[in-house]
Amino acid sequence: RQRADFYQDNSLRIALQQAASINLQLVEQIQRVDELNMKLEELATTDPLTGLRNRRAFDAHMAQELAVVQRRGTPLSLLMLDVDHFKRVNDTLGHDGGDRVLQAIAGHMKACARTVDVVARVGGEEFAVILPSTGEAGAHEVGERIRKMVEAGPWPEMPVTISVGTATLVEGEDAERLYGRADAALYAAKQAGRNRVQQG
Ligand code: GH3
Ligand code: MG
Ligand code: MG
Repeated sequence: RQRADFYQDNSLRIALQQAASINLQLVEQIQRVDELNMKLEELATTDPLTGLRNRRAFDAHMAQELAVVQRRGTPLSLLMLDVDHFKRVNDTLGHDGGDRVLQAIAGHMKACARTVDVVARVGGEEFAVILPSTGEAGAHEVGERIRKMVEAGPWPEMPVTISVGTATLVEGEDAERLYGRADAALYAAKQAGRNRVQQG
């Protein structure tokens, strides 16, 4: 009788120890999966050349910011940027040289942005910046700051400039229309002679 109890207690103790050990392993595995998921999310939303948000992340942030506007009624602006005569830059510096110019421009853009701003590479040599809680005047100011910083370089080999189009969300506008207006303003900036900020 006593002997049977002893064996039962002992096997219960061993089973509990095993369960605790398996539990610990599971917690460690879950932590690993969480870390991997975070790395995967980072990879899926980052442009590898510049480290900026990619197009996919940009679209997701736009949807999120539009929802914030709906709830809080805060202003929202968008900048579209395109490198001036980038074909010439590539022709002069080669494709790798062109890539380094894009990386430097990305650095300038990040330096001009607040942490809440979303700086993205949305095309080969096209960038966009989402500016939450920012109206027309503020958007123009940020665009002008980036434009001046890019112009200042320093670019030892050849001058590099960008053109910028801005747009500020109006009542009832969706992401696509806002994007279209900023893009149209960018086109106008090119037409007007480049290296300038055009308000949309
Ligand atoms: P514009 O002032 O009108 O914008 O002139 P542009 O020469 O910049 O015009 P366009 O947009 O037609 O040319 C962009 C060029 O950028 C074409 C393409 O070869 C080059 N490009 C696109 N993506 C990349 C990239 O990732 N790296 C490099 N090095 N070049 C790229
Ligand atoms: Mg272009
Ligand atoms: Mg261009």
